[in-house]
Amino acid sequence: AKKMGRNCFQFYQPAMNEEAQERLRIEGALRKALEREEFVLHYQPQLDLQSGEVVGMEALLRWQHPELGTVPPQRFIGLAEETGLILPIGAWVLHSACAQAKAWQDAGLPPLRVAVNLSARQFSQPGLVDEIRGALAQTGLPASCLEIELTESLFMNDVQQAVTLLHELKALGVTLSIDDFGTGYSSLSYLRNFPIDVLKIDRSFVSDIAHDAEDAAIVASIIALAHNLKLRVIAEGVESREQLDYLRRNGCHEMQGYYFSRPVAPRDFEQMLREGK
Ligand code: C2E
Ligand code: CA
Ligand code: CA
Ligand code: CA
Repeated sequence: AKKMGRNCFQFYQPAMNEEAQERLRIEGALRKALEREEFVLHYQPQLDLQSGEVVGMEALLRWQHPELGTVPPQRFIGLAEETGLILPIGAWVLHSACAQAKAWQDAGLPPLRVAVNLSARQFSQPGLVDEIRGALAQTGLPASCLEIELTESLFMNDVQQAVTLLHELKALGVTLSIDDFGTGYSSLSYLRNFPIDVLKIDRSFVSDIAHDAEDAAIVASIIALAHNLKLRVIAEGVESREQLDYLRRNGCHEMQGYYFSRPVAPRDFEQMLREGK
């Protein structure tokens, strides 16, 4: 058996090397991407369901690879997390999103909130509060215009530390939003203790509300929960008129999704804002 084990090991060795090499290759490419400024942010509008107006936008990361074209975040965020490269990338995202929002305000467009996604690694990094404070100071964006999207999984490791950090972030004046709400293994109890402002209903609940009574009930319940806790509630992944009508009927405040617009490059987003005025 020992001998076979050794054979197996030898047999698998090349494959493992290949995988390791592939990862190294992507890691090197990610590093270069930062230097070469191959990252861009696309923006997806968030609409107020009462007024129908664009009130905010989510910044979504894209990698414009010279050969591969536009690489979506799912293809590289995980590796960026593992290697720690998400820290400089995340810092860049934060700064760019604030700078863009401020530039549009200065250009006379209606003032919009910009929502930025935070990774687990960023959340557990000691300098996070200073980094956000710095991005606001350097760009001049009012803190009230910055929304930070967090997932429930970030709170699980050390609840007390998470509460402290969230209060520090709140003290900066930024808005705190729970992304993918309802998909985590969390309990509702953190909603009592955490200074959260917004619940973002996960796309997986929204996609079937027109045909699935349970999903529809869950969405209505999350909206009611948000109202009772005096939180703002936004639905993501809205793709149809039926979904939109259901959300509005049930008092959802805002929506984001392909039904109104996909995430688009800054130039297209600006055009959309100007035409909508
Ligand atoms: P997320 O934060 O849940 O972002 C929403 C995702 O849903 C985006 O995918 C968006 O394009 C997509 N989406 C929006 N509306 C619709 C719709 O109506 N239908 C469907 N089918 N999809 C819709 P995207 O841009 O590929 O981003 C995927 C994930 O990558 C994000 O999920 C987020 O977790 C992560 N991500 C993106 N940008 C960043 C970033 O700057 N930093 C970090 N840490 N993560 C990011
Ligand atoms: Ca998000
Ligand atoms: Ca989400
Ligand atoms: Ca169901």
